[in-house]
Amino acid sequence: MKKINVSELLDGENRLDFSLQPCIDGIVDEVHPVRCSLSNGVKVNLLLTKAGKSIHTRGDVCFTTELECARCLKKFEKDFSDYIDIRFLPFTEGKDEVNAELTEEGMGVAFYEGDEIDLEKIVVDTVFLSIPMKSLCKVDCKGLCPKCGKDLNEGDCDCTEGNTDSR
Ligand SMILES: [Zn+2]
Ligand SMILES: [Zn+2]
Repeated sequence: MKKINVSELLDGENRLDFSLQPCIDGIVDEVHPVRCSLSNGVKVNLLLTKAGKSIHTRGDVCFTTELECARCLKKFEKDFSDYIDIRFLPFTEGKDEVNAELTEEGMGVAFYEGDEIDLEKIVVDTVFLSIPMKSLCKVDCKGLCPKCGKDLNEGDCDCTEGNTDSR
């Protein structure tokens, strides 16, 4: 868990660099058809700008995950880098109004209760959104032969030759 206490942040800009090792294996299985593992963790470099109770959080989320190619089923590693831009506001009764107002500006908004902001949740959400539903090991992956199951990236199989024979 990576939590920050709002009262410990300085007014103005606060740099926050950290690594996380979130356990997402089980959750990813529900969202994505492939298993992903974050063996190297997630690197987070954030700039938190505090103005009163509002904490504007911007920065990068970088991680490497092992994915399975949707065509050839080969496992491969891929680096991802995504950007967080979200404003944390204290949870109040007028939440809905504030929410509507800020959403119109096209700004990401989240609410915190008490003095604690759960950054791990935001990071994990960002990781999920970055990983595509279907991944390819390379753009022009030829996939497997539907008949014999051979990896066509390694060369044509006999059935393919038969199909393309124009005689
Ligand atoms: Zn592939
Ligand atoms: Zn074949």
